[in-house]
Amino acid sequence: MEKSMASLIMIFGATGDLAKRKLFPSLYRLFEKGRLTKQFAVIGVARRSLSNEEFQQSVKDSVLTALKKDENIDEFISHFSYHSHDVADSNSYAALKNLADQIDDHYSLKGNRIFYLAMAPEFFGPIALHLKSDGLTDVKGYKRLVIEKPFGHDLESAKELNKQIRTAFSESEVYRIDHYLGKEMVRNIEVIRFANAIFEPLWNNRYISNIQITSSETLGVEERGRYYESSGALRDMLQNHMMQMVALLAMEPPIKLTTDEIRSEKVRVFRALRTVEGEQVKDYFVRGQYGEGTIEDEQVPKYRDEPMVEKDSNTETFVAGKIMIDNFRWAGVPFYIRTGKRMTRKSTKIVVQFKDIPMNLYYQTEKMLNPNLLVIHIQPEEGITLHLNAKKAGGHLDAQEVKLSFANTGIHAMNTPEGYEKLLYDCMRGDATNFTHWDEVAYSWNFVDKISEVWQKTKAADSFPNYQSGTMGPKAADELLEKDGYFWWPVTDLEVDMCK
Ligand code: NAD
Repeated sequence: MEKSMASLIMIFGATGDLAKRKLFPSLYRLFEKGRLTKQFAVIGVARRSLSNEEFQQSVKDSVLTALKKDENIDEFISHFSYHSHDVADSNSYAALKNLADQIDDHYSLKGNRIFYLAMAPEFFGPIALHLKSDGLTDVKGYKRLVIEKPFGHDLESAKELNKQIRTAFSESEVYRIDHYLGKEMVRNIEVIRFANAIFEPLWNNRYISNIQITSSETLGVEERGRYYESSGALRDMLQNHMMQMVALLAMEPPIKLTTDEIRSEKVRVFRALRTVEGEQVKDYFVRGQYGEGTIEDEQVPKYRDEPMVEKDSNTETFVAGKIMIDNFRWAGVPFYIRTGKRMTRKSTKIVVQFKDIPMNLYYQTEKMLNPNLLVIHIQPEEGITLHLNAKKAGGHLDAQEVKLSFANTGIHAMNTPEGYEKLLYDCMRGDATNFTHWDEVAYSWNFVDKISEVWQKTKAADSFPNYQSGTMGPKAADELLEKDGYFWWPVTDLEVDMCK
C-alpha cells in the first residue's frame, strides 16, 4: 500500500449536495493536515456552465460552511478546475481528456487518476464505459473508480452495473463507498474484538445471547421522496450499512490485517447467512412506515404526505429483522437489526448482550441482575460502554449495575475525522479495505432480494402507516424479540455522558 501520492481527482457531480457537503470539506481537511502533497488537482465535472473562478468560489463557500474556517484556502482552491460536461453526451469526453492531460502535465501527477462518481447511479455504467473508450483511463499511473451507493437496485441490476464497470476497471480498482465503513467506531469494531483478550474468548454462542444493532433517524424522507419510493429502508440502509456492521461483528479473526484477508472473512459471514424467503419472511422481518407524530416538539406529517411520495405508498421507512449466521461460532445467536426514519432519536448503536451467569446469587436483592452488555456507540456519540454488576456501596450484598465508559471525544478532545475524509485518503493510498468488494455486494443483495420479493407481492398498503413519528417503530418489531425472550435495549437508557 502506497503513501498518499500525486493524483488527479475528477469529481463527477461537482455541483451536487454530496460534493459540497462532504467531498470538498474532506479534501480541505486532508490538505490542512498535509496529507495532500502539492501534486494534487481536482477537476469538477457537472452539467452547469461555470467558470473556474465560480467553481473555486463554490468550493471555498462549501468549506467555510462546513468547517467554519478557511486558512490557506486560496492555495487549496487554486488546485481546482471546472469542466462543464453532460455525461450522457458522448462527444464531450474528448475535451475532458485534453483538460485532464494538461493538468496532469502541469502538476506532474504521473498519470494517477481517481474518478469519483458523485452522481445518480444510472450514470455509473455509461460514465465508466466512456472513460475507457475515450482514453481517460489510458494512463501510466494508477486509475481508481469511486462510486456511491446505491450499487444497483437488486442483484440483477447490480450484476449489470458491475459488468459495465468492470469493462473499464478491474475489481481492485473499484472503490465502492459505504460511508459507515469510514466511521471511527465502525472501524473500531475490529480493534475492540481482536486486540482485547477479555472479549475474543467470549465472542461466540457460548457466551453471547444476542446482538442488537439500531440505526435510527429523526429525519423523515425530506426532499428524497422520489428516490426513496423506489428504495425503502431495506435497500437504502440494510443491504449495505447494517449488513456491513453484521459482517464486522461476526467475522473470524483475519490471518493478517490486509485488504484481501479482511474482505474474505467478511464474505464468509455473508455465505453463512441463513436464507429467509417466502413464508419465513414474516417470522424474521418486520416493515413499517411512519405516520404523523411529534419530533422534538414539532408536529411532522406522515410519510404518505411527503413530497413526491404516493398516497398509497407501499414503501417501508422502517425495517427490523432477525439475522441468523449458521456457522460454528454463531449458531443460535440472533443478530437483531432495526433502522428507520422519524424515530425517537438519531442514534446508531450496537449492543452485545452476554448470557446470564449460570446461577444468580443475588436474586434476593432489590433488583434482578442485569446481563453484561457491551455497547458500541457509533453515532452521534462515539465510544464504548461496558455494563457490569458491582456491589452497591454501603449496602449489604446488593448488586447494582455500573457502567464503564470510554468516549472518543472525551479522550482526544477533538471531533474524529469525518468518514469521507478517511475514505478519500484510503483511496489515494490504494487501501481498499474499508470499501465493499463485489462479492459482499452480491451476497448481500441475494439475501435482501428474497425479502423484498415477498414484500412486493404482499403489499402492506392497508396496514401502513403502522408507527407514529417520534417512536421506535411498529409494535411488531418489539414482538420479534419478545417471542425469543428478549427486548430491544432502549437507546435512550444506553446513553451516557458522551456527547461533549
Ligand atoms: P445531487 O442531485 O445533489 O447532485 C448530482 C450532481 O450530478 C450535480 O452536480 C449535477 O449537476 C450532476 N449531473 C446530473 N446529471 C448530469 C449529467 N447528465 N451530466 C453531468 N452532470 C450531471 O446528488 P447528491 O446528493 O450529490 O448525490 C450523488 C450520489 O451520491 C448519488 O448516487 C447519491 O445516492 C449518493 N449519496 C449522496 C449522499 C449525500 O449526502 N448527498 C450520501 C450518500 C450517497
